[in-house]
Amino acid sequence: MEMIKVAVAGPRGRMGREAVALVHQTEHFQLVAVIDRANDGKDLAEVDGFSGIHAPIYTDIERCFQEAKPDVLIDLTTPEAGKRHTEIALHYGVRPVVGTTGFTQEEIEQLTKLAEEREIGAIIAPNFAVGAILMMKFAQMAAKYFTDVEIIELHHDQKLDAPSGTAVKTAQLISAVRPSKKQGHPDEKETLEGARGAEYDGIPIHSVRLPGFVAHQEVIFGGNGQALTIRHDSFHRGSFMSGVKLSVETVMKLQTLVYGLEHIIE
Ligand code: NAP
Repeated sequence: MEMIKVAVAGPRGRMGREAVALVHQTEHFQLVAVIDRANDGKDLAEVDGFSGIHAPIYTDIERCFQEAKPDVLIDLTTPEAGKRHTEIALHYGVRPVVGTTGFTQEEIEQLTKLAEEREIGAIIAPNFAVGAILMMKFAQMAAKYFTDVEIIELHHDQKLDAPSGTAVKTAQLISAVRPSKKQGHPDEKETLEGARGAEYDGIPIHSVRLPGFVAHQEVIFGGNGQALTIRHDSFHRGSFMSGVKLSVETVMKLQTLVYGLEHIIE
């Protein structure tokens, strides 16, 4: 297999650390650089927790692309940094694999246009866990038969964006197959604001943020005398890494932006 040169943005983060380890351990991946807000100019191996993993650290992403010339950028940062990194990567011909969540629909459309203009592959995946992709697919199947649905997503309390990208993606997949509808009683009133959660095309989404959690979601369908609950749990961030690996391999063969791992798993 051909060697793929990879840079990781956000290497000291919870996801970034896993991604650095994945790239380091994968025979046909080569970690050529990391992009970090701290430690500019150092070797990654000098940073706590990265002993034996050598790669130059850059704070300036453009300089990183000019000097290290990665094929792929894995971005696991924040929505603002992630969007900027993705745009710059596309300008430099570096293929982005973005796990960072919190991009708006408009931002995804802009980035898709840019990837198509440049004929460069890109993947934005709000959830790299294969089980979570199956949960979304099963939810879309169920929505054909159960039109009343609510989504509860549960994450650790350090997560910056709400609702989660996975919850929004699930609601989009459901709304693609069910007619728009207002759920609950037509005269329903919230006596405490937010009690019924956020709403996507009439689908309530509830976000729970608690220490101890990683990433979890329940999609609850209600019907006449019955309920169907589809649940997925990521107990450890390692659950995301097979999806990251597949995305790095796949993005090398794409000439457009793909949003969602469900479009690349068979
Ligand atoms: P985290 O632990 O807070 O890590 C974020 C990292 O990004 C931090 O190390 C931070 O550096 C760094 N960062 C922020 N701005 C930066 C910039 N301008 N340049 C370079 N690095 C920058 O968060 P996490 O839990 O790893 O999550 C990261 C992202 O992945 C989030 O958007 C999260 O929602 C998403 N996520 C995606 C999946 C998936 O399957 N797609 C799964 C889990 C999480 P400092 O330490 O200097 O602040």
